[in-house]
Amino acid sequence: MKQTFDVVVIGAGPGGYIAAIRAAQLGFKVACIDQWTNAKGGPAPGGTCTNVGCIPSKALLQSSEHFEQAVRHFAEHGIVFAEAPAVDLKKMLARKDRVVAQNNDGILYLFKKNRVAFFHGTGAFVGRSDEGYEIRVSAPAQQTLTAQHVIVATGSRARPLPGVAFDEKRVLSNDGALAMANVPRRLGVIGAGVIGLELGSVWRRLGAEVTVLEALPTFLPAADQDVAREAQKVFAKQGLKIELGAKVEAVRTSQGGVRVDWTGPDGKAQQLECDRLIVAIGRIPNTDGLNAEAVGLARDERGYIVVDEECRTNLPGVWAIGDVVRGPMLAHKAEEEGVAVAERIAGQRPHVNFETIPWVIYTSPEIAWVGATEQRLQQSGRPYRVGTFPFMANGRARALGDTTGFVKILADAATDEVLGVHMIGPWVSELIAEAVMAMEFRAAAEDIARICHAHPSLAEVTKEAALAVDRRPLNF
Ligand code: FAD
Ligand code: NAD
Repeated sequence: MKQTFDVVVIGAGPGGYIAAIRAAQLGFKVACIDQWTNAKGGPAPGGTCTNVGCIPSKALLQSSEHFEQAVRHFAEHGIVFAEAPAVDLKKMLARKDRVVAQNNDGILYLFKKNRVAFFHGTGAFVGRSDEGYEIRVSAPAQQTLTAQHVIVATGSRARPLPGVAFDEKRVLSNDGALAMANVPRRLGVIGAGVIGLELGSVWRRLGAEVTVLEALPTFLPAADQDVAREAQKVFAKQGLKIELGAKVEAVRTSQGGVRVDWTGPDGKAQQLECDRLIVAIGRIPNTDGLNAEAVGLARDERGYIVVDEECRTNLPGVWAIGDVVRGPMLAHKAEEEGVAVAERIAGQRPHVNFETIPWVIYTSPEIAWVGATEQRLQQSGRPYRVGTFPFMANGRARALGDTTGFVKILADAATDEVLGVHMIGPWVSELIAEAVMAMEFRAAAEDIARICHAHPSLAEVTKEAALAVDRRPLNF
């Protein structure tokens, strides 16, 4: 059977499902194809983000943080337990699975509400005719669809270490790392990037002894280095062992566990014995099932679909968004590109500002930033002023019992325009939105400083950091 649509979206991750909804809102007849299958064999739209990424990791980060609070910090608040708190991991994982399922169901509901036709299966290009592009959907939804516009949003998957396949028992990708049936005594992590730090934190809080091996000599090089130094200090204090400049030489698995041979920056050969190993060294784009060759869809040497600034591929009417194209691998970046592409198909002229895409690392303390780092401004030679304010001097943070970290604002020395905001501390995943808004409106640091912020609130730290740019913080 053949069905014709205006727009076919391949992939229902945050890029694809949002693009499909926006295209439907604009009046197009839209289909969205996704292959993800849940444990019962049913569809599980939402992609990596919903199934094995953002959502389950944040569910486990929250549960494990509650446990850490109960074990280490509740006593300060005068809350004592008759018996020491314990973890029921099965229940914790079941809750995480319920959160995921709620999100899967939510997307199916949104498709229905917006009249997006959903097809569960793998979408592959067959060819191109006057009717448009022909796409075959494999089982379970055997169909052939045609459309003048195709949005490829097939996402990414974990990159393995060369020669070391993921077995999801001993050597884990993000998939297995979110579903361990027991807490390993010794957990190894390769890569001190976002996944390594977030998932390493989850299992450390639950009782694992965690060692992270990072190839680069610098910790979190993409972050502002004041923030990275503070984070490294706090993580070490929490017991997360991070080895920088580590060259992994070999990984051997056995019934008993995993052995990693690695060399330190001093050239000394070392071994890491662990029960399980998470490999989090970045991700690779998914284009395998697409049959891209059938239509000549261009990919670069690393497998990413080649697009211009507006997500146009080399083929007229074919667009690509999210993790399968250049740029940061972030759910909200994929979403913004999805909305913009749907609007471009409708003849509108949207714009995605890559300078104001926020980054958040959901460790404790949380880390968040937007815009330029101080090291980037130094390299560019642009004169700037810095304002920093610590959570230690904030009443709400003291009341919370979490005074780690600070907010740092970088502003142009001449115009005072905010060029970058860097945060480490409690709930900065939420606080960063104000900074994104300020930068999107090209606000000056003084604008933030003059805005009335509720008291007592963590957001007052942002205001004080803005005042500090002009050397006049009020509470420090
Ligand atoms: P995906 O979410 O990967 O979705 C692509 C979908 O397409 C998948 O369902 C896939 O099965 C399907 N597909 C692929 N090929 C085909 C085909 N041929 N036919 C049909 N379907 C196909 N980002 C954040 O912004 N915040 C976070 O907190 C965050 N946490 C993360 C935690 C982890 C552990 C991981 C792994 C990632 C995290 N990310 C986070 C990154 C985020 O998940 C991705 O950037 C985001 O999911 C990319 O969205 P996407 O739509 O491009 O692709
Ligand atoms: P990443 O790029 O964040 O970090 C990978 C780390 O592994 C880097 O520090 C890199 O230097 C290191 N590395 C690479 N090869 C290595 C090797 N052979 N030995 C030791 N270290 C090595 O990648 P990730 O942590 O796998 O995450 C993938 C993507 O998922 C990220 O790009 C991120 O955008 C996204 N993500 C985002 C969030 C969030 O927004 N909170 C959370 C998780 C994942």
